[in-house]
Amino acid sequence: MPYILSLDEGTTSARAALYDQQGRCLGMESVPVACRYPQPGWVEQDALEIWAAQLEAARRVMARTRVPATDVVAAGLTNQRETTLVWERDTGKPVAPVIVWQCRRTADFCAELARGPCAAEITRKTGLVIDAYFSASKIRWILDHVAGAREKARDGELLFGTVDTWLVWNLTQGAAHVTDLSNASRTMLMNLAGGEWDADLLSWFEVPRTMLPRIVPSSSQAGTISPEWLGAEIPIAGIAGDQQAALAGQACFRAGLSKNTYGTGCFALLHTGAHVPVSAHRLLATRASSPNRTAQYAIEGSVFVAGAAIQWLRDKVGLIRQASDSQGMAESVPDTGGVYFVPAFVGLGAPHWDAEARGVLTGITGSTSKEHVVRAALESIAYQTRELVEAMEADAGEAMSELRADGGASVNDFLMQFQADILGRPIVRPADVETTALGAAYLAGLATGFWKSVAEVESFWRVERRFEPRMSTETREALFQGWKSAVARCRYPR
Ligand code: ADP
Repeated sequence: MPYILSLDEGTTSARAALYDQQGRCLGMESVPVACRYPQPGWVEQDALEIWAAQLEAARRVMARTRVPATDVVAAGLTNQRETTLVWERDTGKPVAPVIVWQCRRTADFCAELARGPCAAEITRKTGLVIDAYFSASKIRWILDHVAGAREKARDGELLFGTVDTWLVWNLTQGAAHVTDLSNASRTMLMNLAGGEWDADLLSWFEVPRTMLPRIVPSSSQAGTISPEWLGAEIPIAGIAGDQQAALAGQACFRAGLSKNTYGTGCFALLHTGAHVPVSAHRLLATRASSPNRTAQYAIEGSVFVAGAAIQWLRDKVGLIRQASDSQGMAESVPDTGGVYFVPAFVGLGAPHWDAEARGVLTGITGSTSKEHVVRAALESIAYQTRELVEAMEADAGEAMSELRADGGASVNDFLMQFQADILGRPIVRPADVETTALGAAYLAGLATGFWKSVAEVESFWRVERRFEPRMSTETREALFQGWKSAVARCRYPR
């Protein structure tokens, strides 16, 4: 039986899964990856640990499912985006710790750049809002702070990669130094429409071209896994950043289709087809992972704290014992009793982009109970998503018909129903919510003829549950107005 192997390297773990011809998952294995926080706002990982964890996860899933490597026709790869690695071309030795996407060490440099003369041009070329989040300023930081790195990079001795590049380079034993269009569009060094590294961006960020990987389509053969690793040669035929892979895993291959991933944060993407989106609402324009050679785009918005607010109630406040308790508690009260919780723990993301905002809990009275607070935390996820969706619709110039949900918190039925209510749009939850790994498998399977067409892949997508809006327009808008007032209270200056 032929299978597709999917490798999914996230921020907290590396996972591997196998899929059969019907798009069914045979098994998934996960190996944790540690994060280090050497200074406030800094987040680092170890490049060799990431590689070892990903290889271990792949070996485990092959062993568990007893699938011989010779039955694996292709591998797809998806990864945490923007995270930055620099290593020696000759030895493969990393020259610095991995700078993780969340790391704020280049925030001051980026703030200065955003005030400077090139700011508008950077956003126009890349579709991105200038921020420490993206790779470019992180590469610059490594070249400026590691002794001799800038000279070595100029002499062609160092290589840059996001996590996909690093893993493919290791899987191919240095034969392929590549990244795909969706990952490259998050570096802030690629011209979004052209799909190529941009000379002006390279010069503004002082990044030598020789260290950059070759950009390849998301669904194409990018290299071959060396037989040493899994026992046979396996073509790597799909690569995509995690959110773009999730968009593919939700079978959103056409303009107008959208998904929201409810995890630690929320990531909403709206496919815009071949149209290059330009956001007037401070959302990001990005490459979608195209299943063919045509250029495909998406508008993206993110919420920094979503499921993390539930984690905070569990770990820091002790209002719940486990995340799933939140559903029953929220449903035990008819509403929040006027309480709003804005979890702006690390500022507010799109469309506000206010790094100085901090969390607030408003509307508390003597009768406020912990159930009200837990419900307010879940509702905050839905309100923040509505803000993203409104901005996306304004940019796209049309209304979304429905939103496809996935991610760890999408199992919460209360949250999904409240989301449908507050958006006034249906929320659709698919049977397979592991959309990231699935999307990478789709891209690899389509590139190799394992699946014949996008239509075939679309036919695998099954609705598990559809949540229809039930709230009156009046109530919906009154609640949302209340949310806006609460958000105003958390903005800086307070
Ligand atoms: P990530 O991939 O971002 O690490 P996951 O998709 O695994 O996150 O989702 C984990 C998040 O979802 C956690 O922040 C957790 O608090 C939240 N979560 C998990 N289960 C539930 C639930 N039943 N209700 C609400 N939130 C949940």
